[in-house]
Amino acid sequence: MTQAKIIDGKAIADSVRREVAEGVAAFKRQQGGVPGLAVVLVGEDPASKVYVGTKAKQTIEVGMASFEHKLEATVGEAELLKLIGELNRRRDVSGILVQLPLPKHIDAAKVIEAIDPAKDVDGFHPINAGRIATGSGGLAPCTPTGCLILAKSVQPKLEGLDAVVIGRSNIVGKPMAQLLLNENCTVTVAHSRTRDLPAVVKRADLVIAAVGRAEMVRGSWLKPGAIVIDVGIQRVPGAAGKARLVGDVAYQEAMEVASAVTPVPGGVGPMTVACLLQNTLKAAQAQGG
Ligand code: NDP
Repeated sequence: MTQAKIIDGKAIADSVRREVAEGVAAFKRQQGGVPGLAVVLVGEDPASKVYVGTKAKQTIEVGMASFEHKLEATVGEAELLKLIGELNRRRDVSGILVQLPLPKHIDAAKVIEAIDPAKDVDGFHPINAGRIATGSGGLAPCTPTGCLILAKSVQPKLEGLDAVVIGRSNIVGKPMAQLLLNENCTVTVAHSRTRDLPAVVKRADLVIAAVGRAEMVRGSWLKPGAIVIDVGIQRVPGAAGKARLVGDVAYQEAMEVASAVTPVPGGVGPMTVACLLQNTLKAAQAQGG
């Protein structure tokens, strides 16, 4: 049996970053300055620290300015909102990202809504969510944008496809569904209350799994020839007591049935930061330098 194509997220993310670097160079020639990304980290969450470090490194690599703001876990909400106000006003800051999750005493929704929508490069502000939902531009969240690029790398025109998005979070599932609708897919959004999920998935030409349950989607659920984009990342016990990373899809099984599959790691993961840089350039261009 022929195996599915492996969608190489690392290589595609590299090419997105190269395009962004070219865009940044052109922006510099035209405007003088460079786009700037401010990342705000509250507290000492080890995973968040790694993400913020990766974002800063890649921001500099594409020629943009990186501003890191590290605040104590005990910082008050008012102080955080004050910092966001300052970043909103700064002309050298084109994009603002507040690393989530925030400590419990801070209202994350309030913080997100304080970010100027023109600088909301995570695409989480209700104004940007509304613009994506109405198909009227806006900054789209980075992970679903990355998934769309990966799907289009194997099938440039998605129009008319039956797409099933598993998961309905504000960060991945819902914006993913909107982006696919904007591509003229017929979209089904499945979630924890969906009845007979395997039957729903069986209809799909394109499956986007954003659940957070290790290898939940089995090969037998898939329609032969489907394109499978796996957003999930879970650490599970592997051989010799070593942890291994798996997605929401049983990868080897999917490889036997699908036409193209993203691996975990090396699929959706690398695309998220690349799309963040793309959004920062887009925000800077819209702000006109
Ligand atoms: P959430 O936990 O916010 O959402 C999970 C969604 O999955 C919910 O809508 C939930 O349904 C649904 N779900 C849970 N169990 C089932 C089930 N048994 N059947 C069907 N649907 C189910 O997660 P996120 O959207 O933030 O993230 C999803 C996954 O993607 C995680 O593994 C996360 O680590 C990963 N991720 C990866 C990123 C990357 O860059 N690669 C970026 C962001 C996330 P309900 O709404 O009914 O509860």
